[in-house]
Amino acid sequence: MYCPVCGAKILSHYSANKPVADFFCDDCRSDFELKSRESKTAHIGRTIADGAYRTMIERITSLRNPNLFVMTYSNWAVNNLMLIPNHFFTPSIIEKRPPLKDKAKRAGWVGCNIGIGEIPDSGRIFIVKNSIQEDKSKVIELYQRSLSLKTERLDRRGWLLDVLKCIDRIPTNSFTLNQIYAFADELQAKHPGNNFIKDKIRQQLQLLRDKGFIEFTARGEYRKI
Ligand SMILES: [Zn+2]
Repeated sequence: MYCPVCGAKILSHYSANKPVADFFCDDCRSDFELKSRESKTAHIGRTIADGAYRTMIERITSLRNPNLFVMTYSNWAVNNLMLIPNHFFTPSIIEKRPPLKDKAKRAGWVGCNIGIGEIPDSGRIFIVKNSIQEDKSKVIELYQRSLSLKTERLDRRGWLLDVLKCIDRIPTNSFTLNQIYAFADELQAKHPGNNFIKDKIRQQLQLLRDKGFIEFTARGEYRKI
């Protein structure tokens, strides 16, 4: 596998049981974790099981989580391989699994699921989709484009990605401010500390315009780019 961040020809394996990640790029030093599951369907699914819940949250909040590859396969063939850049991770997409039962070897251990379905399309970069390999140059271009969504502060990241996900859910290319306001209750539930949801939504729309993901076409009207 090539490096989808910088295009280097091959990724290297970390030694077994390295807790940080599975692969790294010798050129750009990016880290990658691989999660895979056998699946006969063409879809990649909405969640994928990962390791310890607490470790995952710690890595995200300290901005040290690796990029993630999600792979589905059947009969020794890859059906889907998707890259989720590490700057798309927020604690709100990490779901806590019930603690392991008393009889289990690691009783009380709490694992997590990653809600990959919650991630905006810009952060779901297919390398193989429905058994067809995408162009390497296209993958790298999509990764580079996604970098403009990178924020240093996690609370800002959450807002930006949550509003972008709402835009993804509107099926048409053009949309109005009222269509985004329709998600206000949902966004309020995700950000209970904020009492000015509509102001915050408009601010995020401006940011997404400045970053080249949408354009303003008329008063209260927008188009996806
Ligand atoms: Zn690289």
